[in-house]
Amino acid sequence: MASITDQVEQLIRPEIRALQAYPVGDASGMIKLDAMENPFTWPAEMVQEWQALLADCQLNRYPHPTAPQVTEGLRQKMQVPAQYDILLGNGSDEIIQLLAMAVAKPGAKILAPEPGFVMYKMIATFIGIDYVGVPLNDDFSLDMPAMLDAINIQQPELIFLAQPNNPTGNLWAEDDLHAIVKASNGLVVLDEAYLPFSSRNHLDWLDQYDNVLVMRTLSKVGLAGLRLGMLFGRPEWLNEINKIRMPYNINVLTQASAAFALKHYDVLLDQCNQLVQQRSWLNTELEQLGFETYPSEANFILARCPQGQQAKSIFSELKEKKILIKCLDGGHPLLENCLRFTVGKAEENQALIGALKG
Ligand SMILES: *Cc1c(COP(=O)(O)O)cnc(C)c1O
Repeated sequence: MASITDQVEQLIRPEIRALQAYPVGDASGMIKLDAMENPFTWPAEMVQEWQALLADCQLNRYPHPTAPQVTEGLRQKMQVPAQYDILLGNGSDEIIQLLAMAVAKPGAKILAPEPGFVMYKMIATFIGIDYVGVPLNDDFSLDMPAMLDAINIQQPELIFLAQPNNPTGNLWAEDDLHAIVKASNGLVVLDEAYLPFSSRNHLDWLDQYDNVLVMRTLSKVGLAGLRLGMLFGRPEWLNEINKIRMPYNINVLTQASAAFALKHYDVLLDQCNQLVQQRSWLNTELEQLGFETYPSEANFILARCPQGQQAKSIFSELKEKKILIKCLDGGHPLLENCLRFTVGKAEENQALIGALKG
């Protein structure tokens, strides 16, 4: 009988064994400025109303397979035209996985600019599909000759463009995005995870291009704990992707909570607007401390540390002081000595700046 270590080696694909599980540290008691969460809570009456709704949820029953209350709420609040369908995922991470599974024939490829959202590459690995990362320019704009070359040569089935991009926070030139969509024979997914903090919305690109899908999430708006992502697009595409969606992927509590939160979407958007104001305060303060900040259209700021200071040391010192941020140094050559600060409440941002001043 082979030892369990040998059995694992024989059975589990080598690329899976080489992976590290997505690292999520213990953040209890810390000021959390690492994961782009909305730091605000709800008004007391809203919490009460929500709790009463949850008390009525029937946990002994399977959830509604298509969550119509949620899709209707989304359609209204996000003004999704009737000719487009809405597909829901357990976070947009699940939607990325569904898209990858749907195109995963031998030799299929996913392409994304880098540095970008790490899940695109990780999910490609899970599914066993090739991943092509195309480096951005030094200023985090798209390297268009490299993008178009890669698209022409590799012919990717799927291209992910996060707008704004994570972890750089910027929007890319609209002309560049148009050129990419036109050059692609595959699907182009515009990932608008940070839409509420951004000055640009790509929903009407669905009218212009057959091969575009728009993906969003409630995570960054204030419902990271719920896990609800959504894909908007033509029914020809979504009907196919819907076939591989697990029938009850959106649970009863998520459906009730999301439908409720969408009724009060203005409360969430108001919180996002406060974060946009805080973003500009934080940006000015970081610059005054000598950080090189990059223009952000999201609820975080990417910053390169001042000359002579090490990102890893600043990260550790802040952690000692119970403030958690994200250290990006070592993640990608273009992110050398970079840190990512999620924008928090005024008092959290002040605590951060106070801690950085020493
Ligand atoms: C956070 C993030 C998502 C994912 O979110 P879910 O929580 O899985 O909905 C998707 N895309 C980008 C670019 C992100 O930064």
